[in-house]
Amino acid sequence: MSDCLFCKIVAGDVPSDKVYEDEKILVFRDIAPKAEVHLLLIPKEHIESLNELSALEDSVVLHMMQQLPLLAAMAGIGDGYRTIINTGQRGGQVVFHLHIHLMGGGKLPGF
Ligand code: AMP
Repeated sequence: MSDCLFCKIVAGDVPSDKVYEDEKILVFRDIAPKAEVHLLLIPKEHIESLNELSALEDSVVLHMMQQLPLLAAMAGIGDGYRTIINTGQRGGQVVFHLHIHLMGGGKLPGF
């Protein structure tokens, strides 16, 4: 999608602090971190949000989930981390390209 910020990051048209990439996903540091470590995992293909998922995306979503523990370990937070997916404006989603926030470091506050 041409006006999607995260698609532009995937395409390399907007710079990012990339920490991991494979054929299905890209992982980069959040520009405004809310924890010592704050990464964003995104599918390379444009999926607007959890609400737009279909069976077609099964493999990429499973891949994202399976990479989380590895990425957390790589970022030094393998012993404890938080994952968040905001969905829709009322759920706090600002960028409408599916992403998982991966956060940790120090002691995260409770909800
Ligand atoms: P959400 O509110 O779940 O849509 O989260 C969007 C996240 O993207 C926020 O935590 C922003 O700080 C982050 N963000 C926005 N623009 C960029 C960017 N250019 N590079 C990295 N992270 C970004």
